[in-house]
Amino acid sequence: MSKSDLNQLRRLVIKIGSSLLIDAEGRLDRAWLQSLSDDVAELRQKGCEVLIVSSGAVAVGSETLGIDRHRARLEGLQAAAAAGQVQLVHAYQDALATHGIRAAQILLTPDDTEVKRRFLNARGTLEKLLEHDVVPVINENDTVATDELRYGDNDRLAARVAQIVMADGLILLSDVDGLYSTDPRADSSAEFIQMLTSIDDAHLAMAGESGTAMGSGGMLTKLQAARIATHAGCAT
Ligand code: GLU
Repeated sequence: MSKSDLNQLRRLVIKIGSSLLIDAEGRLDRAWLQSLSDDVAELRQKGCEVLIVSSGAVAVGSETLGIDRHRARLEGLQAAAAAGQVQLVHAYQDALATHGIRAAQILLTPDDTEVKRRFLNARGTLEKLLEHDVVPVINENDTVATDELRYGDNDRLAARVAQIVMADGLILLSDVDGLYSTDPRADSSAEFIQMLTSIDDAHLAMAGESGTAMGSGGMLTKLQAARIATHAGCAT
């Protein structure tokens, strides 16, 4: 998606990775969140509806509860998500409110996007929020999702949300500024790939796993998400 395309968008899903939102101490980076809110306000002024899919609940909550999330078992991570989610969504609410924008929290599980009746129900709620000019702040419902039944990464969740609301744009924000031929943090000869018109298995094979302590997705899940979204007619 080019910058001029961005100005044409009518409905955009923005996915925020934990590594952007959380500082090295595991705390919410409120200055970053404020700058994101400024961008959201600008997009809305241009007539684009915005939905946010945000990670960060587990990272923030594990700091609050003193849980080592790289060693914790499922129930520990779920407790961390419960403690973190409330802080996360309040932080979005505060940052968006500086522009007079209202926020609402939606927590989804894969059933909500894979089972038709629940998919339609989620669509109804999201549409109603947009109609009320609210910015939905969405995350996976980590406190009830189990290992077998979770998205695991919010990239795929964001693509599903884009599909549910028939968004025309999906932006996956991370601490890497785009798609590279190899991991640019490990390989200085990595080439930036400006545009892909389709995503095939060779592209997926090229993408690496998650590279940071905070994030869980990496480029592979982003390409998989882009494939879901582009199949639904949504530029990524
Ligand atoms: N839902 C998880 C959280 O809020 C993040 C999943 C991901 O890293 O994509 O912490």
